[in-house]
Amino acid sequence: MLKRLFRTLRPTSGSTTTQMVIPRDHHTVSRKRISDNALKVLRRLREGGFESYLVGGCIRDILLGHHPKDFDVATNATPEQVRGLFRNSRLIGRRFKLVHVQFGREIIEVATFRADHSSAPPRKDTSKVSDSGRILRDNVYGTIEQDAIRRDFTMNALYYTSEDFSIHDFTQGVRDIKQKKIRLIGDPVTRYQEDPVRMLRAVRFAAKLDFDIEKKTAAPIRKLAPTLGDIPAARMFDEVLKLLQAGRGVKTFALMQDYGLFQPLFPATHVALESDDFYQRLVEIALRNTDERLRQHKPVTPAFLFATLLWGPLQACRKDIEAQGIAPIPALQQAIQVVISNQSNHTTIPKRFGFPMREIWELQGRLPRRQGKRAAQLLEHPRFRAAYDFMLLRCEAGESDLQELCDWWTDYQKVEEHDRKAMEQKVAPGKRRPRRRRRRKPAGDA
Ligand code: ATP
Ligand code: MG
Repeated sequence: MLKRLFRTLRPTSGSTTTQMVIPRDHHTVSRKRISDNALKVLRRLREGGFESYLVGGCIRDILLGHHPKDFDVATNATPEQVRGLFRNSRLIGRRFKLVHVQFGREIIEVATFRADHSSAPPRKDTSKVSDSGRILRDNVYGTIEQDAIRRDFTMNALYYTSEDFSIHDFTQGVRDIKQKKIRLIGDPVTRYQEDPVRMLRAVRFAAKLDFDIEKKTAAPIRKLAPTLGDIPAARMFDEVLKLLQAGRGVKTFALMQDYGLFQPLFPATHVALESDDFYQRLVEIALRNTDERLRQHKPVTPAFLFATLLWGPLQACRKDIEAQGIAPIPALQQAIQVVISNQSNHTTIPKRFGFPMREIWELQGRLPRRQGKRAAQLLEHPRFRAAYDFMLLRCEAGESDLQELCDWWTDYQKVEEHDRKAMEQKVAPGKRRPRRRRRRKPAGDA
């Protein structure tokens, strides 16, 4: 992948990092693999008198022969100066201020070099750290060397410049990429305390890249996993999608469980998984199907993922409520409320996914009732396909009494209209709830 490395000899003043510069003819990052828009941003910043580099996942991925997901730029220009150079840009973030430069559907993220918080006098608008060491605001600016050691892993701290097409490596990132190692920069405990999400990123990259988590980087994770509970639920929702809905869900889920990282994100699901193998199988099969769908470029939705993850908690909660003498349908409605509200403390569930998730669950109760016009009506329901898939999933995970129902629905979708009618008629009438007679209003009532 990479030929020989050059170690250059620009020891940086006052810092402990050693900089390696890898010239163009000694690495595999070709301009052809880089988005034109990203190159435009680099050039414009340079023309404005600033330093500019591509950094992070894009350089790591190109070195590994993968297609980068997006391109991130690092610069010594402040966010406001970047904003001034690009009309098509906007400032975003408070915790970590940066600029998005928009080119049609592509966004190039431009971040200003960050420095350690101890390197600047404390100021409320730039730096804020919690009692546990978590960085709440990360807007202390610095040099490229300082920026490199503020990044999470060595493989993510490689800087590519389009000035001479060289790569600058301050933390032995190239060596670690060659050895397929995920290594946190600095002291792992401190770095996880600053931002516990780095633990999730470690397992995510391990699964995505087939890398090992280096021993010292892995060592504190199990103990520090519960600190993920302090992270805002909205950030956690985004992370969950990157973990479980990005193509390597099965492997990531296994690593999360292994390192104790799943429990703080989904405590109620964790209880269900521990109590019954069925739920473990349900989640694993759903993730396997999701990975496969992504491989085939088919759409996937967080509604289905969350419906699966929270199915165990929903069943437990529904049973508890029914045990208090509440009828099945209102019990289910109440249980849905409780489960969603409890989970929202850990990961938000945006309404646009919460509603379809509810419908997938509610339709599970309606799919067995197929008499008369019901089957045809269900087929027209916008969530029918997802609910049907969910039922197949439950069956595959081991709900054996669902097999006949699944086969019936599979056939019903395949056959012609007139055969559907015959199928509807053959369905044995389910248990009917006795109809309540309408009481006639006595004559003379207003
Ligand atoms: P991908 O985009 O493929 O998921 P990435 O490494 O590019 O991977 P991003 O979330 O896009 O991940 O972040 C871009 C870069 O910002 C990272 O490569 C890393 O250098 C830095 N970074 C991101 N999150 C953190 C963090 N929590 N702590 C320190 N540095 C981070
Ligand atoms: Mg990225």
